[in-house]
Amino acid sequence: MSLLSIRDLHAGYGSADVLHGISMDVDAGQVVVVLGANGAGKTTTMRAIAGLIGRRGTVELDGKPLGKRPEQVVGAGISLVPQGRGTLGQLTVMDNLRVGAALRDDKDGVASDIERWTEVFPVLGRRSHQIAGSLSGGEQQMLAVARALMSRPRLLLCDEPSLGLAPIVVQELFDTLSQINKADGTALLIVEQNAELAMDLADTVYLLDVGTIAATGTPAEFRSDDAVRSAYLGY
Ligand code: ATP
Repeated sequence: MSLLSIRDLHAGYGSADVLHGISMDVDAGQVVVVLGANGAGKTTTMRAIAGLIGRRGTVELDGKPLGKRPEQVVGAGISLVPQGRGTLGQLTVMDNLRVGAALRDDKDGVASDIERWTEVFPVLGRRSHQIAGSLSGGEQQMLAVARALMSRPRLLLCDEPSLGLAPIVVQELFDTLSQINKADGTALLIVEQNAELAMDLADTVYLLDVGTIAATGTPAEFRSDDAVRSAYLGY
């Protein structure tokens, strides 16, 4: 059984649908990457799963319907790293991490997770009392990932984690995501423009095209498909 199963998902803004019935699966511990051109509906997919916008269709976690409110989604074990600077800019780094654990009541576990993530992302430890809004873009992205991990998700949704980051920081961030996936078995659903880098991590790739799934396969299958390669991988 899939960890996350999406069937015939429709979502959009106002009366206009952006997603026209997409179906996707994420197995436990898997890394799934969603590729697609600008405006294809990648962010909309993430926001619909996370409960930030309304949705129709079936979304199940472990075979059980996933609630539609953001706190139900987090409580069920799914956490979103939003696109852009997904931190609470007025709060300190430490308070952002605490907010990420707001639904937990295991104080000791929360404290040890804060210690863990500030070791994994040392800059967050060094700047723990700094206001998040004054961190650099890359530092804020690390904080957004660490904050999302503070709920101990079984599935982490990452919306364009590489956006606006220097190549070396991007590589570091993807290495860290890969380590978290391997060490904890946290499944990853990643939306990414940097297709090559994301595919290095992926077990399964979906191609989203104007709100529908146009192709599905392994990274090897995607790389050997001439049409997909020239349109989305640029070589
Ligand atoms: P990108 O790679 O450029 O981030 P994307 O695949 O993530 O693109 P979405 O952000 O999901 O695309 O947007 C899909 C469509 O929905 C676009 O046509 C966009 O203009 C529209 N859209 C996004 N957000 C809103 C909104 N808040 N209100 C109305 N339309 C929106």
